[in-house]
Amino acid sequence: MTDTERFDAGMSYVIGLDVGGATIKGAVFNDTSEPCCDIRLKTYSSQNTSDEILASMSDAIKQLVTQARVLHLGELAGIGIGVPGFVDSIKGVVLHASNLHLHDVNLKKWLESEFSVPCVIQGDARVGALAERELGAAKGSDSLLYIVIGTGVGSGMILDGQIYEGAHSAAGEIGHTILKPDGQVCACGKRGCLETLVSGPQLIVNYQRRTRRDEHFSAKTLSERAVSGDTDAKAVYRDAAKTLALALANYCTTLDPSIVVVGGGVSLAGEVLFEPLREFFHIYTSPQLSKSIRIVPAQLGDRSGIVGSGLLIKKFLQSKDR
Ligand SMILES: [Zn+2]
Repeated sequence: MTDTERFDAGMSYVIGLDVGGATIKGAVFNDTSEPCCDIRLKTYSSQNTSDEILASMSDAIKQLVTQARVLHLGELAGIGIGVPGFVDSIKGVVLHASNLHLHDVNLKKWLESEFSVPCVIQGDARVGALAERELGAAKGSDSLLYIVIGTGVGSGMILDGQIYEGAHSAAGEIGHTILKPDGQVCACGKRGCLETLVSGPQLIVNYQRRTRRDEHFSAKTLSERAVSGDTDAKAVYRDAAKTLALALANYCTTLDPSIVVVGGGVSLAGEVLFEPLREFFHIYTSPQLSKSIRIVPAQLGDRSGIVGSGLLIKKFLQSKDR
């Protein structure tokens, strides 16, 4: 089936954008949740101004409309966007996204005036949580934690079926819960956050210290070494699993979700991470929680941001129709 054939007359189309630190990924969705067309743009760097980044988002949306052969912008029903940073989704304001140099920017207002369709903005990990809940590893769960461990540690919470943002739009920052008060300084300025202990770059440092070898390689290579049986790599993952289990146990003891979904590059080590993670989680939580709460790998990988952003705007439009 061609893209054109997918776009039946009378259907409404939405765009989901996943705005990362250096890349914008986006897709057009129709009523089936299947992306009809997707793009990946490497369009900016940390040197770009906020105006240039906003222009890149606008370009990405226009490219998607063109490539998906939606005849004109009038056939677009709405736009959902996941942004790495603090977001006030009610006002549609990006409060603080340090990678993008966006501070107190009303992205919703700007996009709605550009494209004349409803736009919904949300934090990227929250959008990922929505995607995993609707179409991924946490399908059907009304209460979940989604944690992404890569260069940093992000997370999104769904409680009682709704994305939970907290009173100040700051809920779910499990990556910045402090596990070692005298530990390393984190990007947030505090010491010993979970992020400083289990991020991909930190696991590489831990491996270098352990092996006393100054080799340079990616977090993906480290996970491949662990999976292929490298005992030092496995030990590094086991230590990280122990720390992560402590953070998750504290979270779960407080909020009692039905499932914890772990994604991001560090999770690609599979059972090398998950087996000790479940083992220590069992030690750190009550028997009732440890036997009931599932800890599973994410299923949507790096598509969770695009899919979740599409779902975000679809749900918003559905709620308006009711
Ligand atoms: Zn921190």
